[in-house]
Amino acid sequence: VEETLVLVKPDGVARNLTGEILRRIEAKGYSLVDIRLVQADRDLLTQHYAEHEGKPFFEPLLELMESGPTVAFRIAGNRVIEGFRMLAGTTDPTTAAPGTIRGDLGRDWGLKVQQNLVHGSDSPESAARELALWFTR
Ligand code: ATP
Repeated sequence: VEETLVLVKPDGVARNLTGEILRRIEAKGYSLVDIRLVQADRDLLTQHYAEHEGKPFFEPLLELMESGPTVAFRIAGNRVIEGFRMLAGTTDPTTAAPGTIRGDLGRDWGLKVQQNLVHGSDSPESAARELALWFTR
């Protein structure tokens, strides 16, 4: 069975949405395998977001991710990588579909695109790499 890394980013933790996000994941039928509260540092974040280094949103993204604790979930389920990304909705909460985490819980006022509540791995390779990063320190 497949596993993925889900992060409730600091904006989601600060808005007390950790439980609501986990509720949606469990209601879908996926299983929680491990959970951690992590204050991410630069080293972890530059590794996690290595593919985005040099992009204009890289620095604001790292500032958000350093601004408070992140909750990391190890989640298991049939095709959970693709399935969680469907649950999360598209990147920008302003236009994410209703019924998705970002579409239902993302605010369209005062919102920055990086404040989109969650992260989910996008491939089996990223899932393996990211789970090792967030669960073995
Ligand atoms: P998705 O692919 O569903 O958006 P993701 O988290 O994998 O999820 P990425 O494209 O990998 O999205 O971007 C990583 C994160 O960087 C996004 O979740 C978002 O927080 C931030 N981000 C992406 N694009 C922008 C942008 N144009 N402006 C500001 N932040 C952005």
